[in-house]
Amino acid sequence: MDSERGTTEPVIVVGAGMAGLACAVHLHEAGVPVRVLEASDGVGGRVRTDVKDGFRLDRGYQVFISSYPEARRVLDIKALDLRAFSSGVIVRGHRASARVMLPWRHPMHAFSALMAGVGTLKDKAVLSAVTARDLAMPGKVLRDARERRTDEELRAWGMSPKMIDCLMRPFLAGVLLERELETSSRVFHLLWRSFARGTIGLPALGMGEIPRRLADRLPPGTITLGAQVVEVSDSWVRLADGTTISGSAVVVAADPQAAGRLLDEIEVPPMRSVTTFYHAAPRSPMGEPTQIVDATGIITDTLVVTDAAPEYSMDGRALVSTSVLGLDADEPVVRRRLAEIYGSTDGWEHVATYRIPAALPAMPPPYPLRKPVRLRDGLYVCGDHRDTGSLQGALVSGRRAADAVLADLPARTRSRRPAARA
Ligand SMILES: Cc1cc2nc3c(=O)[nH]c(=O)nc-3n(C[C@H](O)[C@H](O)[C@H](O)COP(=O)(O)OP(=O)(O)OC[C@H]3O[C@@H](n4cnc5c(N)ncnc54)[C@H](O)[C@@H]3O)c2cc1C
Repeated sequence: MDSERGTTEPVIVVGAGMAGLACAVHLHEAGVPVRVLEASDGVGGRVRTDVKDGFRLDRGYQVFISSYPEARRVLDIKALDLRAFSSGVIVRGHRASARVMLPWRHPMHAFSALMAGVGTLKDKAVLSAVTARDLAMPGKVLRDARERRTDEELRAWGMSPKMIDCLMRPFLAGVLLERELETSSRVFHLLWRSFARGTIGLPALGMGEIPRRLADRLPPGTITLGAQVVEVSDSWVRLADGTTISGSAVVVAADPQAAGRLLDEIEVPPMRSVTTFYHAAPRSPMGEPTQIVDATGIITDTLVVTDAAPEYSMDGRALVSTSVLGLDADEPVVRRRLAEIYGSTDGWEHVATYRIPAALPAMPPPYPLRKPVRLRDGLYVCGDHRDTGSLQGALVSGRRAADAVLADLPARTRSRRPAARA
């Protein structure tokens, strides 16, 4: 079926993750009618928070970085009521542990005595230099810089293998969801800069607050849940139940694998997977919102979430989040490692396990940081696979797709009503 593009037909956005919601909000605020079709039972895509057994559980441990440039542009960050983590981490080996004040905001902190257990003086100088450079450079320079794997980049800066293995690899494993550090150095520098510039934390009511607040800026009835799109064109989409819905344009904002099924033009990247375990403890085994990264690799990282955001617990018990790369980790093995790290896990309860096969697209070099979002007049694509695999990348891709739609839509299809902001 094909239909005339009428003046009142909405732009159809397929998927209500961060990219699709950002795209829909931009279009709506530009006065363009929009309709969002989401296959699942809620908005947010990979960013959702469940309530279970008296806890808020993010679907996989993830964090918000307040300095993401597009987040600052699009979101009301203050309204998220961010609960900040410490700016250091604890690196835990088989026996020893070292507290590391990462040189964010204050590059000279790399020389801090707090970092005495990790790295040589030269390593600290290198880390300070990387941080100072990333803080000072405009994003465009970082985006256009020479590209190689992150481990090669760190070595090229003069960082020792020991420093890479003891600090950078365990820390970055939890961010990039890979331990080989094969991710493009451009992605590393952009992320490092965001860490250095911003606050890392969680919205008081869970990560799901971020998409929920975006969705609230759309008129009631804009989003249809449980609507799985199985076929798309530049003027209509077909749902799994056979219904066809026409629109003035179509934006595919599905996850990379679903986008690949709907669009021949999309190359589906390999995806990184991760498993997050949640445990309840009668009280916090830590008493501070500091992330622990595991240099042994048995787990990736662990945090007493409620030390940062007490609102994640509704009955005063502590919530411990622990992530492991891949999908195969067993709870008893994780629990044994947690007992070594925290001293004891007596009285703890296993609350939930989230195994996430497709958490992040792999981003090895060469990695174009801006992939095309316009496939042809009337058909567009957005999602973290078009930019960087992050909230920032998803939000940017949504704006770029909206801009492309706005550039193409004939003036007659634009509604004249004024922009509305919630
Ligand atoms: C465990 C985990 C940890 C992470 N940690 C961080 C972090 O700390 N910091 C960070 O910046 N990023 C992190 N990320 C990455 C970040 O969450 C993603 O990059 C971002 O949310 C991707 O958004 P998206 O809109 O591109 O895709 P998605 O969130 O995947 O949204 C796509 C939406 O499309 C829907 N859909 C798919 N197919 C169809 C269809 N056929 N019809 C209708 N709807 C469809 C899906 O149901 C989904 O709602 C993490 C991700 C995970 C999973």
